[in-house]
Amino acid sequence: MKLLQGVYAADAIRWMNAAADTARKAKCLRAKCGSVIVKDGEVIGTGYNAPPLDAECNRMCNATHTNGKPKYDATCCMHAEWRAILDTLKHNPEKIYGSALYFVRVDNTGAVSRSGKPYCTVCSRLALDAGIATFALWHEEGIGEYPTVEYNTLSYEYRHVA
Ligand SMILES: [Zn+2]
Ligand SMILES: [Zn+2]
Repeated sequence: MKLLQGVYAADAIRWMNAAADTARKAKCLRAKCGSVIVKDGEVIGTGYNAPPLDAECNRMCNATHTNGKPKYDATCCMHAEWRAILDTLKHNPEKIYGSALYFVRVDNTGAVSRSGKPYCTVCSRLALDAGIATFALWHEEGIGEYPTVEYNTLSYEYRHVA
């Protein structure tokens, strides 16, 4: 992982802010997350977390479905990254290889929350398999850019502290 500096950081902040705008549309009751995928200086796909098809009938994060979430799935609903990857594959499939994914979470007021270490192996595997080159998170110390192979390895190494 490399912490972005200077113009690279300024660029990344721009994409993170775009991801935060997307995150503010999230429909999940547990977390508001957003993701944008960027290639050659333009956004080629976006996603926020929500029930499949944004449909209430598919919602699993409410009181009637407290056991509906698989244990490995720390964030419920469609993950923002899955949505951004699907969006890219639908609208810009030829651009996904070698692209950069940005992920951010916002709190209930819409303010950006800083991310911890990579942990979601569903997203890490999907991003790797889709041919995305880098995966960026906004940490306390700045925006960290991970080669997707490293992001996947770190996600598998992650252990939740009880
Ligand atoms: Zn949810
Ligand atoms: Zn995920």
